[in-house]
Amino acid sequence: MAVVSSLKIYPCSSLTKEKEREKLLENPGFGKVFSDHMALILWSETRGWHNAQITERKPFQLDPASAVLHYAQEIFEGLKAYRAKDGRLLLFRPEQNARRFSRSAQRMAMPVIPEELFLNAIKELVKIDKEWIPDGEDASLYLRPFMFAKEAFLGVRPAKEYIFCVIASPVGSYFKGGGESIILWVEKYLSRAVPGGTATAKCGGNYAASLKAQALAREKGCDQVVFLDIIKRHQVEEIGGMNIFFSLDNNALITPPLNGAILPGITRSSILILAKDAGFKTEERGYSFEEWERDAVSGRLKEVFACGTAAVITNISHVRHEVGEFSIGDGKLGPVAQQLRQKLIGIQRGILHDPYSWVQRID
Ligand SMILES: *Cc1c(COP(=O)(O)O)cnc(C)c1O
Repeated sequence: MAVVSSLKIYPCSSLTKEKEREKLLENPGFGKVFSDHMALILWSETRGWHNAQITERKPFQLDPASAVLHYAQEIFEGLKAYRAKDGRLLLFRPEQNARRFSRSAQRMAMPVIPEELFLNAIKELVKIDKEWIPDGEDASLYLRPFMFAKEAFLGVRPAKEYIFCVIASPVGSYFKGGGESIILWVEKYLSRAVPGGTATAKCGGNYAASLKAQALAREKGCDQVVFLDIIKRHQVEEIGGMNIFFSLDNNALITPPLNGAILPGITRSSILILAKDAGFKTEERGYSFEEWERDAVSGRLKEVFACGTAAVITNISHVRHEVGEFSIGDGKLGPVAQQLRQKLIGIQRGILHDPYSWVQRID
């Protein structure tokens, strides 16, 4: 089988007019506005990866029996392209997204896309749609690579045809208002995903399973859900789409371990490295809800924050549960979170020196 690594480029028949694009970029919000193009690569059992292309963004034609619609073989990634002050186009640790995508594919019995092809698809899309990267401190072009089972077949087995696609969406800040604190709902009954199941795979099914808890949290006046371990409902795991950190008064920075129950976030991994190098005592260890409440009440706990590509670092000021609630800090992003956020964003956007070689330049 021939190995594809480059994409054929088919420009759009009609691009969004400059005026209209500028209007859309003024206040794009999150995930509502899309660029002109998409990357598309097909896979079949007989041909392997083929037809790699950049084309105009348009709807798929899917047979109603397409396997993804019935058995949910679907995975995705999320990363951002930034425009540095000097005009360079930058990606942050995209090879980590490629690797995680491969691991997700393996867990879901889907074909693994070569890392180089995954990265080329992203880079070519950013190059052709670079005008869609908004200007502004928090702005970026959010990239969404995903893959799903296309084969029309209702039998239960891994599909024999897949579509890999990358779309791009200009974004301002993730949580409306940006930089504010969020209130968490502690979920005692529902689970997002389980160890041995798909907890460590970035698959759409995990999100489908989290939506009910998220809706309940909203009803309770909260912004997001924090999930607990499935056995005893004691250990804190993660926030459905973000990992979590606890900053204590003894310079310790705690985050739950990668024990098969949480998604290994690239932001999480980057924060662990930045924090360690900044002199924090980083600990990947179990932290129970009871410990959390006790440390918050005693004042030992100084800051709690969530992290992920979309919102980077978000402060958590209140925690609500069935029989009460407690708060942490003064409702603003604390000094530890601020320091780490500055550092991370500075590297991502090419403002600060990048001693880790995390940033990749496009072109
Ligand atoms: C994507 C994701 C995260 C955050 O990962 P990043 O690589 O930091 O964006 C955390 N939890 C879940 C469930 C996710 O899907």
